[in-house]
Amino acid sequence: ALEAREICLSFGQTPALRGASVSISRGEIVAVMGPSGSGKSTLLHCLAGILTPDSGEIVFAGRRLDTMTENERSAVRRDRFGFVFQFGQLVPELTTEENVALPLLLSGVRRTEALRRARPWFERLGLRGMERRRSGELSGGEAQRVALARGLVAAPEVLFADEPTGSLDSLTGEQVMELMVGAARDQGTTVVLVTHDPRVAAYADREINVRDGKAAAIDQARR
Ligand code: ATP
Ligand code: MG
Repeated sequence: ALEAREICLSFGQTPALRGASVSISRGEIVAVMGPSGSGKSTLLHCLAGILTPDSGEIVFAGRRLDTMTENERSAVRRDRFGFVFQFGQLVPELTTEENVALPLLLSGVRRTEALRRARPWFERLGLRGMERRRSGELSGGEAQRVALARGLVAAPEVLFADEPTGSLDSLTGEQVMELMVGAARDQGTTVVLVTHDPRVAAYADREINVRDGKAAAIDQARR
């Protein structure tokens, strides 16, 4: 469903990806592992259509992402992808319910309908009663659960998560992972999860290892 074929990308003189290939099936939860600076985030950004590789192909649902116009690509990101990052990146001035509803509002869903669809996530993620709180007034673990709800609220086909538990202690991180994996499985969402924590990666169906800008599937028998 989502593939990178021999992609290369340099930032100036620095090669970040050197012929990376990955193939991710629909509904799969994949952990992208590897040392700092190996190219994990760059690979995620290419798969998500945020960065365009210098060469190689990105294919999503049978269509080339890398050759689309920026307008087409941003429509794919908005309507079919969800995102969660290390430091939630909520809009601090908005309430938590507005933050969760944001992807729906950006897709043109009316405000009352968007807030209605956001509501069940508060129950599900243990955030009940926090709907009207400013997002700047949440703990790290709460903010990360709100970010997760925002990433999933529009039932995206693919959720991209870059170190979603990186700012949390291990217990809170495991709770966020359990919620993420449970919700993704319920909606059939594919998850591309970057982490360097093996305990976080253990929630995935399989691991991909990135080293020096190249990706390799991990032999599952050795996990
Ligand atoms: P980490 O685990 O530390 O997040 P990573 O595996 O995600 O690392 P990337 O962020 O993909 O690594 O970076 C890969 C290489 O590209 C590194 O050498 C990095 O310094 C470089 N790089 C990444 N983003 C940029 C940028 N915007 N401008 C210049 N160089 C960059
Ligand atoms: Mg990174």
